[in-house]
Amino acid sequence: MIDKNYSKIVMKFGGTSMADIEKISKVADHVEREFKNGKKVAVVVSAMSGETDRLINLVNAIGPVDKSERDAVISSGEQVSSALLALTLKARNIPATSVQGWQIPLRTNKMHGSARILDVKSKYLDQLITKNEIPIIAGFQGITEENRISTFGRGGSDTTAVAIACSLKADLCDIYTDVDGVYTSDPRIVEFAQKISKISFEEMLEMASQGAKVLQTRSVELAMSYNMPIRVRSTFAENNFEKKNKTINIGTIVTNEDNILEDKVVSGIAYSKNEAKITIQNLDDKPGVAAQIFGNLAKEGVNVDMIVQNISADGKHTDLTFTVQETELKNAKSILDNLKSQINFHKLIESKDIAKVSVIGVGMRSHAGVAAEMFSTLAEKGINIQAITTSEIKVSVIIDSQYIELAMRALHSAYGLDKKK
Ligand code: ASP
Ligand code: MG
Repeated sequence: MIDKNYSKIVMKFGGTSMADIEKISKVADHVEREFKNGKKVAVVVSAMSGETDRLINLVNAIGPVDKSERDAVISSGEQVSSALLALTLKARNIPATSVQGWQIPLRTNKMHGSARILDVKSKYLDQLITKNEIPIIAGFQGITEENRISTFGRGGSDTTAVAIACSLKADLCDIYTDVDGVYTSDPRIVEFAQKISKISFEEMLEMASQGAKVLQTRSVELAMSYNMPIRVRSTFAENNFEKKNKTINIGTIVTNEDNILEDKVVSGIAYSKNEAKITIQNLDDKPGVAAQIFGNLAKEGVNVDMIVQNISADGKHTDLTFTVQETELKNAKSILDNLKSQINFHKLIESKDIAKVSVIGVGMRSHAGVAAEMFSTLAEKGINIQAITTSEIKVSVIIDSQYIELAMRALHSAYGLDKKK
């Protein structure tokens, strides 16, 4: 539970919040407010929006390059934005110091471009905070054991923020962004989607990996393992300010399941349009074939999501269908084509015109009938289900992509998620 009287927070601001000097000044307002309310504050920032893309393009123009130098270039956006915010605060006589990943130090492994955090020292940051200085930390980056700058992958500043919050034993990690929270579904598609006030880490992970792109998935995993509450909130929405130091329904809190008292069985409807489907027709139905197919796909790094195998009519042959990310389709097909000499099949049929819709909710653990409700809702709309997967807190189906919006709206109402009209 987030106590109104929290005393130590990490505040993270994304690229759109840091986009120009005027917006940075708005960010400074938030920092100033918390600081003047007597909170202990550390800030984490992303690069100014568009900057990381610009830097990546510069590197790409050179061609295949040394990954460590690439990280030295693309981490620099955060160096600029952190110092700009520190300058803005200093100009208001608020003590602030920009801090790069290596100055903390935030240690990572040497997987440049997708480095994992090994250790975050809190000594230097603690010293600053004790002196009443606000550390303004460059997100997205760390330093390897070889003393080289590393980066975490796109959206990595969220992960920095959570890692810093854990290291400083903060009460809360506030993620300020351009939306005012996590929604029950994509508001661009589902008109009656509403802001969720609290969501569990696990549900958020499902929502995030399903395309609710608010938080980097890794940051949620990290927060879950350290039980660090995250609050997603807007930098710009005026109603987001704490009034008279009282927290009023701000943003969305991502927290431990035990802290959520709501009785909703389903919390959200997520979707993904980036799926593709492959059917292997007339495949030998004998032991070892699936192991060979999925073993080879895995070896080449192709992530398979859903798998459906039909029963064999003649006891000798069967059809096997599976889905992958659309970007992996070509790769998956060529792996299968190469396998053709070892396994017997008639032909491959591919389709990109599919989409995945998922209903997500921890309430499913204790309530039966969630999947049945989903199937009947889709049936009423005449939408055919091509594949199904379930987990403890999620049911996903593959449908024809042209029905995805219809399906999402229908499911959103069926589970009682529509906001009052
Ligand atoms: N600037 C980095 C990016 O654009 C990291 C971040 O914004 O979280 O991916
Ligand atoms: Mg982001």
